[in-house]
Amino acid sequence: MRNSFDIVIIGGGLVGLSLARSLAGSGLALALIEPRPSAPPPTGVNWESRVYALSPGSAALLQSCGAWQRLPPERIARVERMRVFGDDPGARIEFSAYDAGLRELAFIIENNRLHHALREAVREQELRMHCPAGWSTLEFHESHAAIGLEDGTALTARLVVGADGAESRVRKHAGIAVRAADYRQLGVVANFSCEKSHDDTAFQWFMRDGVLALLPLPGRRASMVWSIAEERGRRLLALPEPALADEVEAASGGVLGALQVITSARGFPLKLQRVTHFTRPRLALVGDAAHNVHPLAGQGVNLGFRDARALSKVLGERGPQGDCGDYALLRRYERARREDVLAMQAATDGLQKLFNNDAVLLSRVRNLGLTLVDRLPWLKSFLVHHAVA
Ligand SMILES: Cc1cc2nc3c(=O)[nH]c(=O)nc-3n(C[C@H](O)[C@H](O)[C@H](O)COP(=O)(O)OP(=O)(O)OC[C@H]3O[C@@H](n4cnc5c(N)ncnc54)[C@H](O)[C@@H]3O)c2cc1C
Repeated sequence: MRNSFDIVIIGGGLVGLSLARSLAGSGLALALIEPRPSAPPPTGVNWESRVYALSPGSAALLQSCGAWQRLPPERIARVERMRVFGDDPGARIEFSAYDAGLRELAFIIENNRLHHALREAVREQELRMHCPAGWSTLEFHESHAAIGLEDGTALTARLVVGADGAESRVRKHAGIAVRAADYRQLGVVANFSCEKSHDDTAFQWFMRDGVLALLPLPGRRASMVWSIAEERGRRLLALPEPALADEVEAASGGVLGALQVITSARGFPLKLQRVTHFTRPRLALVGDAAHNVHPLAGQGVNLGFRDARALSKVLGERGPQGDCGDYALLRRYERARREDVLAMQAATDGLQKLFNNDAVLLSRVRNLGLTLVDRLPWLKSFLVHHAVA
């Protein structure tokens, strides 16, 4: 059995799988290591509380990966409008796909459906899947990297890709430093059935103690992401479901009428992570292993898909005899991604700080900012076109 590969991807989450798919047909020998076995999503009407707002650019990547076509269309919601409210009455901004000349601003899709679609697509390509499997040793040499699996299998690769999420062991192993800032917030997620139609609109409220988003799901359903101070988040998680629904209904001003919980709440700790390097000789990081952002803009996995797209493009341009772990090549990937990632980290962190602040002057500035942007069509158009990439 072959144990030497061009690329070994460590981590089979959405970003690792999308990279594997983007490299199908490249002629590169690929392997992927993932500890968690994959299970098909449950049949029936269960809705997963972990959903993603995917940009049209991400949807196009998933289409080219052969994953989008595998998603059940009745589980995909299109976002045609977005209404964002500040914490002053009247401070609001509205984005519309129609005004921006787009068909939609985003798609909302459940994590388990998307993961399954990507796994099924990957099954069709030449790739050695080690799953469930873990690794115990990882050494970087001049000409290759050596990976020892927990079952004793030894693999070599010209390039290792760390796609193993925010707590990346690959990153730690390679000695890449991280600057982390704990937001001391939880991202509380849950799904609701709603009395009123959402009309394909995503709603977001920037409040003094957090950001509440209600994203449309197919039918009269909505998915909540409430980024909120840890203590209040824990209280929300402990509430009986009818009380949680009442609290969300009140916080959202009843825009969707009476709510009923259809998927129990879960909480995720939120932090910002900046890495010093995306690459080392024979190593590239992608997805949350390379950057972690506040979910208020719903951009984490979109950034990760753009990493996958950029890395596969750079690898595809390396020439017939090119070494895919060549550091100069990997630096091109890093340069291609730095600006987008830094801009998103700055924007999400800046917004989080601007609103998570009691100063009266800041309150005026942020609410005035929303109203002003709403009145500047060119700026709105610029923001929309950046967000859908
Ligand atoms: C509340 C919340 C809401 C969000 N909403 C959005 C949104 O609407 N839109 C959006 O774009 N983003 C959103 N995000 C961000 C998004 O969840 C992440 O950016 C995305 O999941 C990162 O994908 P990934 O594949 O890089 O990492 P992960 O999803 O963390 O996958 C990492 C994979 O690596 C595997 N792994 C872990 N350790 C090892 C190991 N030692 N060896 C091998 N494999 C390993 C794991 O099992 C996993 O399969 C949200 C985040 C939160 C917290």
